Amino acid sequence: MKLIFERSIQGRGCAILPPCDVPVTSLPEAMVRKEPPKLPQVGEIDLSRHYTQLMKQTHGVNDGFYPLGSCTMKYNPRVNEEAAALPGFRRIHPLQPEETVQGCLEVLVTAEELLCEITGMDRMTFQPAAGAHGELTGLLLIKAYHHHRQDTARTKILVPDSAHGTNPASAAMAGYQVVSIPSGPDGCVDVEALRKAAGPDTAGLMLTNPNTVGLFDRNILEITQIVHEAGGLCYYDGANLNAVMGIARPGDMGFDVVHLNLHKTFSTPHGGGGPGSGPVGCKELLVPYLPIPLAQRDGAGGYRLDWDRPLTIGAVKDFYGNFLVVARALTYILTLGREGIPEAAENAVLNCNYLMTRLKDVYDMAFDTGCMHEFVITLARQKKELGVTAMDVAKGLLDHGIHPPTMYFPLIVEEALMVEPTETESRETLDEAAEAFHEIYRTALSDPELLHQSPLHTPVRRLDEVAAARNPRLQYHFPD
Ligand SMILES: *Cc1c(COP(=O)(O)O)cnc(C)c1O
Repeated sequence: MKLIFERSIQGRGCAILPPCDVPVTSLPEAMVRKEPPKLPQVGEIDLSRHYTQLMKQTHGVNDGFYPLGSCTMKYNPRVNEEAAALPGFRRIHPLQPEETVQGCLEVLVTAEELLCEITGMDRMTFQPAAGAHGELTGLLLIKAYHHHRQDTARTKILVPDSAHGTNPASAAMAGYQVVSIPSGPDGCVDVEALRKAAGPDTAGLMLTNPNTVGLFDRNILEITQIVHEAGGLCYYDGANLNAVMGIARPGDMGFDVVHLNLHKTFSTPHGGGGPGSGPVGCKELLVPYLPIPLAQRDGAGGYRLDWDRPLTIGAVKDFYGNFLVVARALTYILTLGREGIPEAAENAVLNCNYLMTRLKDVYDMAFDTGCMHEFVITLARQKKELGVTAMDVAKGLLDHGIHPPTMYFPLIVEEALMVEPTETESRETLDEAAEAFHEIYRTALSDPELLHQSPLHTPVRRLDEVAAARNPRLQYHFPD
């Protein structure tokens, strides 16, 4: 299909601007463009068709099953959008006086209180724009804490080898050395290896529980205790809280700081690079270092912003974070309520175990012990015996209208496919997906070449992913 720039015709447009109602002043010569910007010029119908066509070429949660492991592609209820579109939330300015945005501050304070209850934390900032940004923020809190106590020998962050790739990256960004902790044969942290690694140079541990292979680490209290006894702090990567929200709390597992991905667990749209939100909650010992400003109750029935926090690490983003994402997440939490939140978690785990059980007869599970919100298939055997890889199965699923699971992650599993069905899928959808997986397996036995060719029925066929990564074309070059 054509790019919007290729559709552009000089002089076309669809903007109807009202007459200017403020005095016109001219800008200083040095600030004025020498030539107009090269914006695409298209009529409204062409613009509309362009985006409709783009939409038809992609796969979203509203198109079909989207079991992309670790990404929690659950359905995003429309009521969230309605709430976020209220003019009092949407048509405001970040520099408006506090007394004119009391409702917005109430959203921030209420969301903080509820999410602190869900995570077992004392305070929370909504400033980070996404999960990885939350990780960096949380690590900077840990760093400020050690620094403030003049405990400067702590230069290392311990990260299990099953961790999400952002964890070691964030630790390095925060100026720490990363020490990888191996997993045992059960897919959980090797406690003895952790004990050996923890010491006076340990600033902290970053951990996801349930981890990226979908297993809940039963040794979690011992793990956090080992780190605390070594003088380190414990960071919980709560990007994906879907299996435990309303049931188990990071705060009770011994964690000092946690980030959440509102754009995963708390049902706000994601994928495609839209705005996210990665709030960071912490226990009392880290509260002094939280970014500014923090919204809070003013003690007289209203709300205010607190800027006066002398030990703060500063701001990690402009203003208050992606506020409308928080408004959507709060709507979601209030819609589900105290019963609905744990019920959603239970259904996420149920759906996951159901699909895993339906696939076990033909696919090998990396860890066949029952799962939490996601499970990992390994295609190592099929690769060896049939020459069919995780990539082939993933591409085959596209022809069934299913978005592929996460591929080749976690790194500790060979030929991995990581499947996360989420709670919002019906049993019928899961049965259809299981049937698609089985059909692909039959094709792998009878006609592996066909799978190497797939997808056969998508807008574009199999792409050269190496070329796409090595020679990305990210710029449009205008014809002269
Ligand atoms: C998605 C995810 C992240 C990163 O979140 P972003 O919003 O993409 O930055 C970190 N950790 C885990 C476990 C995740 O699933």
